[in-house]
Amino acid sequence: MRTGLEIKRGGFPIYEEKQLRKVNAMRRAMSLPDVKTPTIPKKGQALFTTAEEMHDEPASCYNCQFYNKNAATCALIGSRIKIRKFTYPEASSADSKPIEYWPCCSMQLYGKPNAEATYRASSDPDYLDLCWINAGSVGQESGGANCGGCSGGDDCDHYLTTGTKAKWDSATGFCRALQVTVACGDVCALWGDDDVLGWREAQKIIEEQHGAS
Ligand code: SF4
Ligand code: SF4
Repeated sequence: MRTGLEIKRGGFPIYEEKQLRKVNAMRRAMSLPDVKTPTIPKKGQALFTTAEEMHDEPASCYNCQFYNKNAATCALIGSRIKIRKFTYPEASSADSKPIEYWPCCSMQLYGKPNAEATYRASSDPDYLDLCWINAGSVGQESGGANCGGCSGGDDCDHYLTTGTKAKWDSATGFCRALQVTVACGDVCALWGDDDVLGWREAQKIIEEQHGAS
């Protein structure tokens, strides 16, 4: 019933007490406070970044504006954690082959790394989900994370495609985390893969290859 509803300039309705039941009913439908199924994050909540913003490159520390390139550290984490890509093992053997790993975290922000080391925070690498992502081959121009694994990136476990094409040859796919269609070169902070190398293991390898500092 709209009877008596005061409408201000621009068509703005002023609710009174008698409209509260309708307003509460609509809020209840929008937030479903009694339902226990998982909530679906919005793109903004997942720090979603388009392929265009990423310049069609996979996300890694090497194209992040928080990376201190010469010091091999992150401006958000501090000088204690060394961050650089590496290949491990360094030589092939009968039972294994060299794999190149690129570092990245959920705060990746596309841009040019710093030449001079700058520190702005001392965030916990666990909270930033710092990890090392394996590349398809050693010596790639760029590696890291994106939705579908195109342009040298490693694909996200949440990116689903149909049809016969490989994920990395698809233009778009369905993101089961965000429940939306995304482009192959997009990326977000929810990126996940079951075979990433943890930052603690990466620190051991960096120390073995470059020494403690
Ligand atoms: S750890 Fe994260 S924020 Fe830091 S340089 Fe790497 S991607 Fe950027
Ligand atoms: S597929 Fe993965 S990286 Fe891409 S938007 Fe979904 S969760 Fe984020």
